[in-house]
Amino acid sequence: AQVLTQFDTIAAISTPIGEGGISIVRLSGEEALKIANKVFKGANLQTVPTHTIHYGHIINPESKETIDEVMATVMLGPKTFTRENTVEISCHGGMVVTNEILQLLLANGARMAEPGEFTRRAFMNGRIDLTQAESVMDMVRAKTDRARSVAMNQLEGGLLDQIKDLRQELLNTMAQEEVNIDYPEYDMDDMTGQEMKKKAISVSKKIDHLLETAKEGKIIRSGLATAIVGRPNVGKSSLLNYLTQDEKAIVTDVAGTTRDTLEEYVSVKGIPLKLIDTAGIHQTEDKVEKIGVERSKKAVDEADLVLLLLDASRDLSEEDKSLLEFTKHKKRIIVLNKNDLGTKISREMIENLTSDPIIEISVLQKANMDLLENSIEKLFFNGIENKSNEVMVTNQRQSSLLTKAKQSLQEVINGVDNDMPLDLVQIDLTNAWDSLGEITGESAPDELITELFSQFCLGK
Ligand code: GDP
Ligand code: ZN
Repeated sequence: AQVLTQFDTIAAISTPIGEGGISIVRLSGEEALKIANKVFKGANLQTVPTHTIHYGHIINPESKETIDEVMATVMLGPKTFTRENTVEISCHGGMVVTNEILQLLLANGARMAEPGEFTRRAFMNGRIDLTQAESVMDMVRAKTDRARSVAMNQLEGGLLDQIKDLRQELLNTMAQEEVNIDYPEYDMDDMTGQEMKKKAISVSKKIDHLLETAKEGKIIRSGLATAIVGRPNVGKSSLLNYLTQDEKAIVTDVAGTTRDTLEEYVSVKGIPLKLIDTAGIHQTEDKVEKIGVERSKKAVDEADLVLLLLDASRDLSEEDKSLLEFTKHKKRIIVLNKNDLGTKISREMIENLTSDPIIEISVLQKANMDLLENSIEKLFFNGIENKSNEVMVTNQRQSSLLTKAKQSLQEVINGVDNDMPLDLVQIDLTNAWDSLGEITGESAPDELITELFSQFCLGK
């Protein structure tokens, strides 16, 4: 059982700042009910049953001025997100109103929450582990349904459970080994060494399994930077329009405050494609003389995926050839467009030049567009189907710790093979166990935890 840490009471606006139907100001901590009660006129929030909602008004206790008409939700710990006493005040959505309520709460004993502090408390109070905390952020930022589903599964403890199982396996082995060290008269060294090696190999394999999902996990979480390239008039804009004009389009505001650019994303089979330099695509039309190669160089450099368009109804030009050449080191799909107009460039001709996937479509007639989508999915998710409740390693922190655990397990194997004393081998086993614990936060250093939660948005 986890002992709850006593923290001061924090407050923050938990909905986006701006105009909206409603805004929510959240309070969490021992004093949440008491502080809310000071500014709330209606039921006595300190005596109402837990998990109930109350109509009333927010009043400035000094000036007696009525600030807003609100609903207050009272939730007593530990059955709350933070496990602390929580009050959520739903007020009229508007910057001024919401802010005034927050300021009143601050003036009456609450402290302004730091970014991610609510989630951090949920973690500190044992309600969620680090993978779940990370999934909260992923959930907020999810760009496609598939990304949401992976985040949801992680929030439900999908990854946590797997890491826990691995740790348990190691722990059992470590415990056996302790017995062996404590009772050397049994002289079971040989057997235990082999046991440890066997366990190290088995856990290592399971880690590999998880690591295999990391590449896909990253793509699902962060998107696939995609460049559409081709000489003028091959149909780049048409393809771009096709991708961005139907329900696939997701225009996202980049989360956080560092960049306020709009990035264009589209969803292909639940994979968020981040379209690079879409402005550049349009520019080529204005300056026909400008060679597409130059223009696309930067986009291609940044790309995880290149869609190289060729006009199938025309002969392969020098420009096409140079585009084929300078994108060849990239993951790419060769798109033979305008196949409704004839096939001067055939699949076979291109197959002689590259083993990359080739698809024949007509953007104008929207013919065979599913080939493009399937091809993208296959290129990055070979053999990994889109299933619900998929457990994926979704970030660099998780995957580097898994790799670290794996390295320690390799040391265990080497140690046993080289007849190292088992108490030394045990150290490597413990290291692996620790690295796995760092993923869930059970053995994570404080700085790391602080760093991780500081990436959260305010009010989360
Ligand atoms: P971009 O210069 O590469 O952006 O090419 P655009 O998308 O502007 O297309 C140039 C012209 O080709 C436009 O008139 C499009 O309507 C036409 N076009 C694009 N895709 C197709 C296609 O699949 N078939 C046919 N017949 N025309 C197309
Ligand atoms: Zn264009």
